[in-house]
Amino acid sequence: MRKLSTNEIRQMWLDFFQSKGHHFLAPASLIPVNDPSLLWINSGVATLKPYFEGRKNPPSSRLTNSQKAIRTNDIENVGVTSRHQTMFEMLGNFSIGDYFKAEAITMAWELLTSPEWFDIPKEKLYITVFNEDQDAYDFWKNQIGIPEDHLFSLTRDTNFWDVGQGPCGPNTEIFFDRGQQWDPLNLGTKLLSDDIENDRYIEIWNVVFSQFNNDGTNCYTELPRKNIDTGAGLERLASIFQETPTNFETDIFFPTIKKIETFTKDNVKYSLDDYQNPNPAQTKVNVAFKVIADHVRAVSFAIADGVFPGNKDRNYVIRRLIRRASTYGFELGINGAFLYKLVPEVIKSMGQFYPYLQEKAKVITETIKDEEEKFLKTLSKGYTLLNKIIAEEKTVSGKNAWLLFESFGFPIELTLEIAQKNQIPVAIDDFKKLANEAREQARQARQDQKAWDKQSEFYTKLKVPSEFTGWNEIVHEGSKVVYLFVNEKEVTSLENTTGFLILDKTPFYAEKGGQAGDAGIIRGPHGTAYVFDTQQGPNHQHIHQVNVQGKISLNDLVDALVDEEKRLLTMKNHSGTHMIHWALREVLGTTVMQAGSYNDEKGLRMDFTFNRPIKPEELAKAQALVLEKIQKEVPRKVYFCSMEEAVNKHQALAFFTEKYDEIVRVIKFGDFSCELCGGTHVRNTKEIEDFLITNLESKGNGLFRIKALTSFQTIENYLQHQFGTLLEEIDQLQDRYQETKALLVDKQWEIQVQNLKALPITKDNLTKLKKGVANLYEMAKDYRKKVQAKQTQLRIKPYLNLEPVSATQDAPARLQFMDTNLNLNELKELADSLKQKHPQTIIILGGHKEDNHFLVVTVAPELQTKYSAIEIFKNLPGFNTQGGGNVSFAQGRYKPINEN
Ligand code: ATP
Ligand code: MG
Repeated sequence: MRKLSTNEIRQMWLDFFQSKGHHFLAPASLIPVNDPSLLWINSGVATLKPYFEGRKNPPSSRLTNSQKAIRTNDIENVGVTSRHQTMFEMLGNFSIGDYFKAEAITMAWELLTSPEWFDIPKEKLYITVFNEDQDAYDFWKNQIGIPEDHLFSLTRDTNFWDVGQGPCGPNTEIFFDRGQQWDPLNLGTKLLSDDIENDRYIEIWNVVFSQFNNDGTNCYTELPRKNIDTGAGLERLASIFQETPTNFETDIFFPTIKKIETFTKDNVKYSLDDYQNPNPAQTKVNVAFKVIADHVRAVSFAIADGVFPGNKDRNYVIRRLIRRASTYGFELGINGAFLYKLVPEVIKSMGQFYPYLQEKAKVITETIKDEEEKFLKTLSKGYTLLNKIIAEEKTVSGKNAWLLFESFGFPIELTLEIAQKNQIPVAIDDFKKLANEAREQARQARQDQKAWDKQSEFYTKLKVPSEFTGWNEIVHEGSKVVYLFVNEKEVTSLENTTGFLILDKTPFYAEKGGQAGDAGIIRGPHGTAYVFDTQQGPNHQHIHQVNVQGKISLNDLVDALVDEEKRLLTMKNHSGTHMIHWALREVLGTTVMQAGSYNDEKGLRMDFTFNRPIKPEELAKAQALVLEKIQKEVPRKVYFCSMEEAVNKHQALAFFTEKYDEIVRVIKFGDFSCELCGGTHVRNTKEIEDFLITNLESKGNGLFRIKALTSFQTIENYLQHQFGTLLEEIDQLQDRYQETKALLVDKQWEIQVQNLKALPITKDNLTKLKKGVANLYEMAKDYRKKVQAKQTQLRIKPYLNLEPVSATQDAPARLQFMDTNLNLNELKELADSLKQKHPQTIIILGGHKEDNHFLVVTVAPELQTKYSAIEIFKNLPGFNTQGGGNVSFAQGRYKPINEN
């Protein structure tokens, strides 16, 4: 066997398919774009769905890639089997309506066996096909010459790819035989034919013949356009070419494992031999090493793509992986946070194909360190809790085990181990039930979304070309109507109705890259089409969504006029998005990564990831930077070049979340902002005119949404409106103030209101006004309290001259008056005032408001040895009382007894 490094294998794969006319696609982000059915990109084809569904035209009908993928359902397999990782790379070749079975098989065989390429001895390869797919079987046997003892027809379970609704089809799988030493029971190909889990025949490549459409109810029809979709695990190929017992001793993971060994004691080391000749104690140690190496790599990639540890979805997966790796470190006897120290190893082994890892090294390291340190703190709290449960309950219920797992990151194995040491049972079945329920809930939440869209025959066949002329013009005269359709059906004319229209040449921009589509009108000889939106077709056509007055027919010559105002405002906002993106990276660092944007005539918004809260002064600084650039009148330049040139020569920001075409378009402002972008932009920054951030919202888990406005007019309108609403609020507060002004005048209030109302309408004053109004609300609260106190004083005034019955030898002085019209609060105030005037007195006061009767009792301190307020309250003759208190004071309600 040839000895090949992982980088060589990947390169050879990509070179081979490029030599066969395939277009190379750079790896896409692990975060699916516009695909709520997926938590993570989990295969090579997952990033190509729009091409396969016919929603978008691919840059070529033959594609090849090496795509990072995460499969959370394999996490439990990691370190246990020889061949599973959490994150792995899938090598692929794809045909989108181009070649089919014969060519796919021929190419696969050539790559694997040709001495020029992988040069794997033919007899070591085994093939399986779907038992209803005679074509594939015959081709392997007769054209390739695979002997029958190397070729197996298997069932739908193993050899049919189907995910419910969407394209599906039979597949053929290629296995590599590692030899009889991996087959202790000497079962041979029975392992393959009976689909028995084994380490002898390693599945390296799966070639799917996507030829049917499943309508969602397992009703299959032939696809209008047949595709090929393949996937081969890079790590598995590496283990074959490097002849290692598992994927983990390859050049991808072994350096990390060696690094982990520097943190463990001498008797806790990785054993190369254990996978084949296992010893339980050593296997446990090996698993720990493998899990840590795996998880650190997956987490590093996810963070580089902008996923930070958090409490739900993807972010939670990352948190769990870090926690899991950390506990395995603990099991190896490593103390304290150490995972972050492994990041350089990950970058060394992966950095050649993923150069951005090095750029993100700092944020990856800091994030992992932070999260692990936080976790270790929770973990020690979990220990305390578990010890308490063990001591007090003498058993660990499923609920408690789940609590430890969910809230304290305690792996169940650890709970079991500690419980066992204390000879305490754990309700493991109950725990599993809870775990399954949680898993099921998470799964269902996603399953509601359909995985694939039905391949639209109409859109895949929509090939009519249409040229965009709108970079520099907004009116195009003499365009020809080349296609008309309604409800996915071609028509020859549209008359007084809505529908879709395509022109041979159009200045209308179709929505893409976050820029809204144009609106406007199309004037024909017999009618006018009012365009309310323009969307992109699969072949980059600009499809106008129209409402026709009169009649527009095929081949009509028409004038296309874009709504200039809408387009200009949209352009300002789009350029503004580039500006604020640059400014945020300038202020907050390159950890800021754009995660989507939208620009239309009303404003701009941009989503981005960042790993900590953002301070108002940072935001203000970013805004100031943008304004500075606008003032400088920096010219905009456009380049068309290769992706490589864009990134290397122009330092364009490309986030591998979007697929880019062969020739990319680069938008550059001066030498500070440079992005890949297909949108329309202002000619120089001065045309943006003005810039105002209106909102920054944290969406949790490190995702933020910023909203902003551009252009003098838009900002002017916005300010007018904001000032209007805020001044209205002031007026409402002022009305309430006026009502009570006779009682109490607040000079501060009056000055404040006057100042705020006099503020000229400007951007800076908006912040002042907002703060001022918030302050007014506080002042109003204070003022109301003061007014209330004043009102109370006025209401209790008539009773202040009540006099007590003087003390006698048998009884202390007593002031009882039941007939006030005061409420409970006022009674208390009155009691307080009377207490001052009449010390050494028992005071009993009653009041009523409508049907409610109130009562308070106070007893002077000197009398409290003999008398208690609450006792007097409870036993007041002639009244039914209800309330509470103590020796000095009691309060509540009463009913005169005769009313009962
Ligand atoms: P297995 O049965 O071994 O889990 P699979 O049937 O799930 O494999 P596919 O969905 O066919 O695999 O994926 C295509 C290829 O991707 C596989 O042939 C394999 O080489 C690789 N692969 C799949 N899952 C993993 C994983 N968790 N880690 C590493 N490689 C993987
Ligand atoms: Mg699998």
